[in-house]
Amino acid sequence: MTHEMLNQKVISALCREYESVWLVDSKTLEMSVFGADMVTSIPDSIYTAKKIQNYAAARTWYINNYVVEHDRARVLLQTQPENIRTQLEKKSFYTIEYSRDNMGVVNYNQLVYARVNSDEGELEYIILGFRDIDIRKKAERDDLTGVLTRQVFFEKAENLLKENPQIQYDLMISDIVDFKKINETYGADVGDEILHWVGAQLCEFMSDDVLVGRYGSDQFVVMCGHDLMTEIFSEENIERIEQQEHANGLPHIIIKYGVYECITHDKSILSTCDKAHIALNSIKHHYGKKLATYNDVLRKELETNRKIESNMYKALDEEQFKVYYQPKHDARSGKIVGAEALVRWIHPEYGFMSPADFIPLFEKNGFVVEVDNYVWKKTCENLKKWTDAGIQTVPVSVNASKLTFEQEDLLKKYQKPVMENGISPQKLHLEITETLMTGDTESLIRKLTAIRAMGFQIELDDFGSGYSSINILSTLPLDVVKLDMSFMRKFGDEKRAKVLAACISLAKDLGYKTVSEGVEYKEQCDTLEFLGVDAIQGYYFSKPLPEEDFEKYLVENI
Ligand code: C2E
Ligand code: CA
Ligand code: CA
Repeated sequence: MTHEMLNQKVISALCREYESVWLVDSKTLEMSVFGADMVTSIPDSIYTAKKIQNYAAARTWYINNYVVEHDRARVLLQTQPENIRTQLEKKSFYTIEYSRDNMGVVNYNQLVYARVNSDEGELEYIILGFRDIDIRKKAERDDLTGVLTRQVFFEKAENLLKENPQIQYDLMISDIVDFKKINETYGADVGDEILHWVGAQLCEFMSDDVLVGRYGSDQFVVMCGHDLMTEIFSEENIERIEQQEHANGLPHIIIKYGVYECITHDKSILSTCDKAHIALNSIKHHYGKKLATYNDVLRKELETNRKIESNMYKALDEEQFKVYYQPKHDARSGKIVGAEALVRWIHPEYGFMSPADFIPLFEKNGFVVEVDNYVWKKTCENLKKWTDAGIQTVPVSVNASKLTFEQEDLLKKYQKPVMENGISPQKLHLEITETLMTGDTESLIRKLTAIRAMGFQIELDDFGSGYSSINILSTLPLDVVKLDMSFMRKFGDEKRAKVLAACISLAKDLGYKTVSEGVEYKEQCDTLEFLGVDAIQGYYFSKPLPEEDFEKYLVENI
């Protein structure tokens, strides 16, 4: 397209949409204005329109007088003639957005640059349009934080990916640590102020190439090219964003970031966000670690899983799995009334491993069945050993995962070591969780009924965690309800305390015994006793103990 053949439709469209449209000579930077009435004779107007200013001079004058301060440096860079030329080499339109301050009234504005080629196909003229996009922009922005709404972010991100298949983009999700606690402690107003602050900091990075949106309550999402991402979330900037307490007296916050590098262009943004989330979650409990990338997390996890899987059979053969026992005490008398069997893996090379490191993987690969059966068998043997030594024992609860419980021959398998060791079934409880409810409820009820008929008791573990349903208490045949540890972790929360009291009272009404887990303080113990809980398990009485230590504990506490 040459200036002679300048597409009149494009120009008239620009003139309709833009408040003023200018023509800039790409070499001399001479600048002239033309309006809608000239559109019909464009080729002529190019030469006849009155030369009013030089682009370079007009640019600095305009920016210094109209562009708000925090956009100024960026707009100065972006509007440089060299940058405009480079951008117009890549695409036929280039837009810049900024806040315009017109005598105290601040509006979003947009500049658009379009190219006009010479006969030789070189950039000859640049068309420049100005317009107010305040209404459109405000609808795109989140009221509180000023960043894009989630919906708009997704739309823009998808467009950016589609339009720039050659660019490697990263996506990042940020999360304010313990934001709920901040809200609870300081009130929602302070929480809002913090979000507003963080949003404002992130907005500074926003441009045509950097999208910033609100992902969820206290989570933000950023998408931009890989190099920009590294630059924006440099250690220095991460520190600066957190420094708001110095700026305006707000409480100190910590922000963590999860990054997914080099987005696959044909994957949905939502699934990319999920991956950034996985990276974020991987450092949730790592003190001092603020940023993680998905690839690192995945690689490490795969490596560890591979190591664990190649070692697990040998570990079972060589008795590297050890069963620890955590005492349960009567809430009133303080006497020991039971224990929970908890597995640990003492690896000859990696050392002590907590079940949280391997049980979730075993639940996926099925090996949990072997481990659970082993813990059951070992517990039967220990009960016999203690009884033979003249030690009075207490009922021991053993965890059974969904897969373990679904074994066809579970009853036979569980009965065998009990018989062989001459144990009374009253000395064994099975701890199950709500996850069992996802299968066939009728057959689950039949199985539980059969287990109880054999003399074993059923404990429902982790009740009140996540999305526990109250109906489970009336559906399943149970003996004991174990109140989830989260009640203790949120002990000061008034609403949570009411839910705890209601759960205890409901379980009791239905004829179940109750156990409270994760009890660490005397104050918690006293409250639980007052609420009528039967038994207490937690560090307040004892941590889970190795076999030999538990044996001593039994002797001393019975
Ligand atoms: P769980 O069944 O809810 O076990 C209770 C967990 O809470 C144990 O963690 C225990 O050490 C911990 N705990 C006890 N008292 C306190 C306390 O006062 N404060 C705190 N913060 N924690 C306390 P552990 O032993 O690391 O076990 C974690 C999870 O691993 C268990 O949660 C259970 O889901 C699973 N698990 C452990 N052993 C087995 C097993 O033999 N089979 C199966 N399927 N899962 C097991
Ligand atoms: Ca348990
Ligand atoms: Ca539990």
